[in-house]
Amino acid sequence: MTRYIFVTGGVVSSLGKGLASAALGALLQARGYRVRLRKFDPYLNVDPGTMSPFQHGEVYVTDDGAETDLDLGHYERFTGVPARRSDSVTAGQIYQTVIARERRGDYLGGTVQVIPHVTDAIKEAIVRDSDGADFVLVEIGGTVGDIEGLPFFESIRQFAYEQGRDRVMFVHLTLAPYIETAGELKTKPTQHSVKELRSIGIGPDLLLCRADRPIPESERRKIALFCNVREDCVIPATDVETIYEVPLSYHAHGFDTQVMRYFGIAEEPAPDLSAWEEIVKRTRSPEGEVAIAVVGKYTGLRDAYKSLFEALTHGGVANSVRVDTRWIEADELETNGSASALESVHGVLVPGGFGERGVPGKIAAVKYARTRRVPYFGICFGMQLAVIETARNVAGIAGAGSTEFGPCDDPVIGLMTEWDRNGEVERRNAGDNLGGTMRLGAYEAVLEKGSRVRSVYRQERIFERHRHRYEMNIGYRERLDDAGMRVAGLSPDGALTEIVERPDHPWFVGVQFHPELTSRPFQPHPLFASFIEAAVKQARLV
Ligand code: GLN
Repeated sequence: MTRYIFVTGGVVSSLGKGLASAALGALLQARGYRVRLRKFDPYLNVDPGTMSPFQHGEVYVTDDGAETDLDLGHYERFTGVPARRSDSVTAGQIYQTVIARERRGDYLGGTVQVIPHVTDAIKEAIVRDSDGADFVLVEIGGTVGDIEGLPFFESIRQFAYEQGRDRVMFVHLTLAPYIETAGELKTKPTQHSVKELRSIGIGPDLLLCRADRPIPESERRKIALFCNVREDCVIPATDVETIYEVPLSYHAHGFDTQVMRYFGIAEEPAPDLSAWEEIVKRTRSPEGEVAIAVVGKYTGLRDAYKSLFEALTHGGVANSVRVDTRWIEADELETNGSASALESVHGVLVPGGFGERGVPGKIAAVKYARTRRVPYFGICFGMQLAVIETARNVAGIAGAGSTEFGPCDDPVIGLMTEWDRNGEVERRNAGDNLGGTMRLGAYEAVLEKGSRVRSVYRQERIFERHRHRYEMNIGYRERLDDAGMRVAGLSPDGALTEIVERPDHPWFVGVQFHPELTSRPFQPHPLFASFIEAAVKQARLV
């Protein structure tokens, strides 16, 4: 029997609902249950693919090629369950479905309305594709009280009514702010948020209260009484040092125990959390530290590089070091010159990106890493720019560029319109909708014999996730080879370059895909583990 847990948020956004859902998923898993986690976002974009990282943070890509909310990244990292397209639902998708049905005449002349047609479509999405998991956790984006969230809240209310309250639990995340002048943690915002939730027919079964310090017993009691929630179901969610401590902290406060009690599941042996304890121990007591420069365009916004930051942390865990990630704005590198900002780092990483702004600074970073023999990791755009840098500065192809920035004499990076995928031809063309022209999702690559990446992966064939429009122009392969850059991984049909590397360099790898998306704390991605290992060696040299 599948049970459903809905996670909603109140008071303010950014309290960490995604992390809370992921951590609960991990706790249920540690008790031996199968979980699926999903995110419902009330905005009207069909997916976040067309949103700026400044608006939305990172776009997380699934194996099946969906562009989704970054919370799905937390879910995967915490539970190891690969997310799918059906785990990410937006109001835009729901309306698209309903309107398509209307155009087909499915509603047989009826008036199409938010209730019941939109709410029915939302309810379908809750249960769809859930593989008979023991628990389906659904996080509702936004905060209670938002106008656009209403159809989602109404849907989960109806869903609980129809399924029965013994199969559905409501978890609500709120904030208990500390007011300096009063010297107190305030419970009123939580009371108001729960009142708001009740006004649309949802009584929370458990409250998670974010606070920057322990919540005194008296305040917990107050929240319980005024919000009509059992006292032991008011769970403090206090700030922790690393996100991997969250499951341990929740467990210590009885979160999973209360979930078991709620569903009437006889108390079983405690969950096995040893893997989490180990990760926390390792992140807390590293044996050294390396500094990695990430040269990007959205460095002021940590959410824009969420998975990347985590993957670097995992690479550190694999090598028992702490990674000091230094975020460097490409534009600043361009104006101030690369040397000073990069002088003290042990590795340079240029991540994925779009558009021309910042390109000269990023290319300067690649050149610095290449000529100063500092480990270099280029991801997607970072690989393309590494190719351009070698073409221009080593192969002497002065006009080398990417057609992403307009026509150029030597398009070493360009648009490919056709390729083979599992024996079938996949096509795209420049005129397609912005949302539909990218190579998205997991693609296979074959690694060249004798290459560095082949020994890093210890495999000949790999699957990695993509999200890009442009590709390396394989026609330049020989000239790049002569310039010391070798193609180390290709699509099975040999048309698409997946990886380049410089064999003459201590560690210089560019990949067309996004390995950061599949790195997990318990299974650091081999490329990140290897890159940090190279940075450790570099640190001993300098
Ligand atoms: N802008 C490049 C492209 O579209 C790279 C994209 C990326 O880094 N994700 O191909």
